[in-house]
Amino acid sequence: MRFTKTKAVIAAVGLSLSLAACGGDGGETDVEVADNPEFEAGSTMAELSESGEIVIGVKYDQPGIGFLEPGADAPKGFDIEMGRILAAGLGIEDDGIEWKETVSDNREPYLQNGTVDIVIASYSITDERRQVVGQAGPYYVTGQQLLVREEDKEKITTPEDTEGLKVCSVTGSTSLQRMVDEYGADPVPFSTYSECVDQLLNGTVDAVTTDGAILLGYAAENPDELEVVGEPFSEERYGVGFEKGDTAMCEYITETLQTAMDDGTWAEAFEATLGESGVETPEPPTMDSCA
Ligand code: GLU
Repeated sequence: MRFTKTKAVIAAVGLSLSLAACGGDGGETDVEVADNPEFEAGSTMAELSESGEIVIGVKYDQPGIGFLEPGADAPKGFDIEMGRILAAGLGIEDDGIEWKETVSDNREPYLQNGTVDIVIASYSITDERRQVVGQAGPYYVTGQQLLVREEDKEKITTPEDTEGLKVCSVTGSTSLQRMVDEYGADPVPFSTYSECVDQLLNGTVDAVTTDGAILLGYAAENPDELEVVGEPFSEERYGVGFEKGDTAMCEYITETLQTAMDDGTWAEAFEATLGESGVETPEPPTMDSCA
C-alpha cells in the first residue's frame, strides 16, 4: 500500500493523520538522497520512488534502535537510519517517510496486509518468518541476553539461573519463544520491552530477556538500577521485512545496504545510535543472497 492511497482513504473517512510520525527533522546522519533514480517499470521500487513516499514499520520504545522521544516528530535509532538509507536510494526525502509504530507481534500482519511497505524493527531473520514475509539482510547481528536489577547481577547471570523466576519478554518475539522452549523460567509476556522494563524496575519480575542491543539501551537509561548480565545465548540476525516473493525488492534492499556498509555510511549510523548506548561498532555482517 502506498502512502498516497492511505492519505486518500484517511481523508475520505475524515480521520486525522496525527497518529503516525512523519520524517520531519531528519535523522542522526547525513544521507544522500538519490536524484531521479531509475527502476524497472511496475516494480515496488518504481512505485515508491514515483510516489515520493514510503511507510516504514519501526519500534518506538527501543533506545538506540527505534525510539520516539515524547514531543519529537520522528523516531531515532539504528533501524531508523537504515530506513532513511533505503528511502534515500529510492529518491525519497525524510519528509516522505511515514514512520509507523510496530510491536513484535504485528510485524508479519502489517507486511501481509499492506499497513507498511517495509519493516525495520529489531526483526530477526528466521525460517518461520520467511515462510510468510520476505526478510533481507542481516544488517546487524546481536544475541539474546538478560537484564536484571543491580542487586541481582551476581545471582542471575545465565538463562539457567532463571529457573522458577519471573522473566518478562515480548509476545511474538524470538526471545519469549526461546525462554518458553528451552529454559525453566516462568515467562511473563507483554507487548513491548519498555513495559517489561517497568515490571523489572517495580519488582514484579526478576529479569527481562531479549537482544543485547535492546537491553543495553535500557541499561544506559537506568545506569544505577539495571545491568545487562552474562553472555549472549542466541544469534539474532536483524533483517528488513518486505512483501514475500518480491525478489527485486530484496535485491534493492541488499544492494543499497551493502553500499552503505562499503562506503562507511552504515558505520557512521551505528556510531551515532547504538554506539551511544555503549555497543561497539562491529564489522558489517555478510548478507544473505536473495535467490
Ligand atoms: N530480535 C528478536 C525478534 O525479532 C527480539 C526483538 C524483538 O522482539 O523485536 O523477535
